Amino acid sequence: MTVTARAAVLESVGTPAVVRVLELIEPRAGEVRVRMLASGVCHSDLHVRDGEWDRPTPIVMGHEGAGVVEAVGPGVTTPRVGELVALSWLIPCGRCRSCRRGHVWACPDSPSYRHTLLDGETAFRGVRSYCAIATMAEASVVPAAAAIPLPAGTDPAAAALIGCCVTTGVGAVLKTAAVPAGSSVAVLGLGGVGLSCVMGAVVAGASRIVAVDRVAARFDAARAVGATDTVLAGDDAAATAAALRELTDGGPDFVFEAIGRVETAELAITSLPLGGTAVLVGMTPMGARASFDVYPFVDGSRRILGSNYGFAVPAVDFPRYAAWSVEGRLPVTRLIDRRIGLDDIEDAFAAMRRGEYTRQVIEF
Ligand SMILES: [Zn+2]
Ligand SMILES: [Zn+2]
Repeated sequence: MTVTARAAVLESVGTPAVVRVLELIEPRAGEVRVRMLASGVCHSDLHVRDGEWDRPTPIVMGHEGAGVVEAVGPGVTTPRVGELVALSWLIPCGRCRSCRRGHVWACPDSPSYRHTLLDGETAFRGVRSYCAIATMAEASVVPAAAAIPLPAGTDPAAAALIGCCVTTGVGAVLKTAAVPAGSSVAVLGLGGVGLSCVMGAVVAGASRIVAVDRVAARFDAARAVGATDTVLAGDDAAATAAALRELTDGGPDFVFEAIGRVETAELAITSLPLGGTAVLVGMTPMGARASFDVYPFVDGSRRILGSNYGFAVPAVDFPRYAAWSVEGRLPVTRLIDRRIGLDDIEDAFAAMRRGEYTRQVIEF
């Protein structure tokens, strides 16, 4: 029996995604087929769609998804058929220097970056899978190691978001920065990752959580997930930094940049008080460079941290974040303000370019 799936395909970077019916291979040893329930639309997808990041094509898009395991290859014991899984977009190689240290989120040699299954085969005949998972498809064949079982009762759309933005933002606060209780925190950019930083700051016990964006309409969502204060940013970065200092007794102990722009990365650094930490979470276009005054940075013992994928160990962190979402400790579904179908993908990208919506989720 041949399994087919409708999928959002990018024929080449910088061109519109098109929905095509593709043929899937049968899962082999170490692989599973997942019937997708939900896929988030993340800014990384837009970077690829718009040609800001070069990726091999043709490729099925999407890297933030969840579904139910429908079939497993020979010898696969986890996950099991019928389990709800969130998909990890990074499968560690297990051999490199980062993996040997347990820093799997920093693996530079992940097979996920080849956008194929582990042996180079493609799950969809002749078409690659973004990060080896291709969540913008009705079904996908993925490495078993990428499919992480979640606790029963997890909302599928929340599970999808745990696959990227929630883990990226919550992990940046709890794992990368390990924000101590009582700290003041500012978050620049209130998309899915930024709001996840806000949720993480609540879990960390931050005393002040200042949400910053250029769009005031985003503040309701920020307050709904735990922001204590908001700052509307304009073109004057110095004014934004002054507002942050005013609200946090001289500057936030931790500033999270969750946009991926040079200007906001520089703002994160210049807003810091003595001993403060800037955590850069947003991914810029390739080649972007930032600058800052070195003397006060060193003199004030400030720090800059880069955080990829919230320092995630998916098999440990996904079930933990999912349990917190079921308990209401991480109100993940409040991030979702538009539910769409696969055919709406180009419309979703257009809305994202206009800065609309916090998180759009494709439901299957
Ligand atoms: Zn993402
Ligand atoms: Zn590795």
